[in-house]
Amino acid sequence: MTPKSAAAATRSTVHGYPRQGPDRELKKAIEGYWKGRVTADALRETAARLRRDNWRELAESGLDEVPTGDFSYYDHVLDTSVMVGAIPARHRAAVEADALDGYFTMARGAQDVAPLEMTKWFDTNYHYLVPELGPDTVFAANPAKQLSELREAVALGHTGRPVLVGPVTYLLLAKPAPGVAADFEPLTLLDRLLPVYAEVLADLRAAGAEWVQLDEPALVQDRTPAELNAVARAYRDLGALTDRPQLLVAAYFDRLGEALPVLAKAPVEGLALDFTGPAAANLGDLAAAGGIPGKRLVAGVVDGRNVWINDFAASLSTLATLLGLAGRVDVSTSCSLLHVPLDTTVERDLDPGLIRWLAFARQKTEEVVTLARALTGGTDTVAARLSANRADLASRSASAITRDPAVRARSASVTEADARRGLPYTERAAAQRQRLGLPLLPTTTIGSFPQTTELRTARAELRAGRLDAAGYDRRIEAEIREVISFQEKAGIDVLVHGEPERNDMVQYFAERLTGYVATSHGWVQSYGTRYVRPPILAGDISRPAPMTVATTSYAQSLTDRPVKGMLTGPVTMLAWSFVRDDQPLGETARQVALALRDEVADLEAAGTAVIQVDEPALRETLPLRAADGPAYLAWATEAFRLTTGGAGPDTQIHTHMCYAEFGDIVQAIDDLDADVISLEAARSHMQVAHELAGHGYPRAAGPGVYDIHSPRVPSTQEAADLLRTGLKAIPAERLWVNPDCGLKTRGWPETRASLENLVAAARMVRAELSS
Ligand code: GLN
Ligand code: ZN
Repeated sequence: MTPKSAAAATRSTVHGYPRQGPDRELKKAIEGYWKGRVTADALRETAARLRRDNWRELAESGLDEVPTGDFSYYDHVLDTSVMVGAIPARHRAAVEADALDGYFTMARGAQDVAPLEMTKWFDTNYHYLVPELGPDTVFAANPAKQLSELREAVALGHTGRPVLVGPVTYLLLAKPAPGVAADFEPLTLLDRLLPVYAEVLADLRAAGAEWVQLDEPALVQDRTPAELNAVARAYRDLGALTDRPQLLVAAYFDRLGEALPVLAKAPVEGLALDFTGPAAANLGDLAAAGGIPGKRLVAGVVDGRNVWINDFAASLSTLATLLGLAGRVDVSTSCSLLHVPLDTTVERDLDPGLIRWLAFARQKTEEVVTLARALTGGTDTVAARLSANRADLASRSASAITRDPAVRARSASVTEADARRGLPYTERAAAQRQRLGLPLLPTTTIGSFPQTTELRTARAELRAGRLDAAGYDRRIEAEIREVISFQEKAGIDVLVHGEPERNDMVQYFAERLTGYVATSHGWVQSYGTRYVRPPILAGDISRPAPMTVATTSYAQSLTDRPVKGMLTGPVTMLAWSFVRDDQPLGETARQVALALRDEVADLEAAGTAVIQVDEPALRETLPLRAADGPAYLAWATEAFRLTTGGAGPDTQIHTHMCYAEFGDIVQAIDDLDADVISLEAARSHMQVAHELAGHGYPRAAGPGVYDIHSPRVPSTQEAADLLRTGLKAIPAERLWVNPDCGLKTRGWPETRASLENLVAAARMVRAELSS
């Protein structure tokens, strides 16, 4: 008996909106405040104006309900820590002295005070600050930010819906505070946290909130029965409160799975679900569970984290099904629009034929409104928009950008053998030993050298037209000469050219591949005041010309030692870009891999004996649900092997990943079949070396012995000790000596000293081995 919602007009809303402003005003104001150029009052005024402008824009596009509290000076998870009073002991003095400065201290640290750790928000490229909790954590409600932002919206005449990180997700995202046992489970604090949420909810109700949204994206990941019980308990308790607004529990980024029946049964008034991408499975699951009769369903049919226009016909069909499954159905984005740029109409340099396929935050808001109108008033009321949408979609699928017959034919003819090196590792290793003649414990670096202000200035001048291409190339060559000469003097065995020509390891290649497009204003928050402009994988990928051969060959011409070619791997190219939504990710990865495979061949032809294909994103791209892991790893490792599989046996293929915990993908790392892998290890005392050994990893590895995340210079002794530890797990014939990661964020003085010590350490340990 599912009541039809024909009577209730469908409302439109979004879960959150980009915070920075059309011209990144927020970034500028915050950074100005940090430098003392902007007063706290001026910063607050800028923030208030940006919120006001956002709400007005949303309301003017026809949205019925606007989110509040989604704004942040840095991060919404940090805001939640402040809201529940979870201030780590080391930040308390700063917070008590000044709330705003203390807030930034939690985010960024201060002299002698470490900030909160930062990590990725689910499988997006947004980073949040990890709450630190322990058995002694005392929560206390501090709803000031949420209340004032709601009041602002209400005063401006909007229907505001406060959006909070839900209590279960908040605890699941937390980690044990320093000094607390590593096996402490923050979720055990649920009973202490719920009264704080109860207080916040009551205050929001009093301030005029009819609905409050509680975001629980952690529920789209695999959860234990105990965790699902905690969900049931949390929402039973919050639902039982008498003085509260109506509760809308939101989950996004994937299907809810086993958490769906738990939430469906909970005494809350509404659910907001994602119906895009892999989360489209929510539709069948919801039907199977008998729907949520009598409740409000906020249907996320417009993809909030990718840049493509909606398929209105498909969304309307989803919505039509949903109408029978809930008390009322409202239309929304799948998640906050924080993850997409603001507006396509400011992209003057993009082909207009292509812009019509794109929807950023503003366009997505209009899509939500259009769908809600179609539901309320019938499709006739938006007939023109629907037919324009059909035409835009048709132009995309018929476009020569989307379908390049040559690329498709090549991709379709890939064989199993293409993705395999011609000889097994042991035979390749022998051929490479012959060709390269490297010492035991060879030294190398990960690729980039310090990106100096002069380099950045040169790039800015090139963009502004004050420096011509030839002048820019001369500066790059001068930089390469310096980097090569330093490495020779320092005694490094396998050199790099230093990547001075690369602003970003993905963007550099994206700009040189056909089918990729770059925006000029498509800024998206990565963390705090850091914004990035991810390129868009818009069409079939091909490589019109070599991308790295000139710089690598130039560097090689300066030295007799081998210079490594440096490429960004296919998985990382996808992970840090907006991806196509009209074909499987594996197909896009394969196209990128084939383009890179040609680059490998050209580097080889130019005499490059060592080629590194970086895949720092291999692990972070793992799907949110474990069940989807094997399929992902299958296409991801195939793409890597397709990139490198054509290399001759005496070409040494390196790969690099920058993280210390990879237990869950060690088999995939093995499957890459790279001859040498470099990994982060310095901070964890070579833990990875032991994990590799435990797995029986048969090839060479360079666990980092120099932590590049700080300006600290490791001593020769320290690096030598790490090498000795590494040797307990990896035999000398297969152990490399290198830093944890690239050096582009470091300064020259500490880089010089650290690499000299690293070489000295390698020599010291070599001498020990030969005596
Ligand atoms: N080759 C790149 C560099 O050294 C690798 C960067 C990375 O792993 N993120 O900068
Ligand atoms: Zn790295």
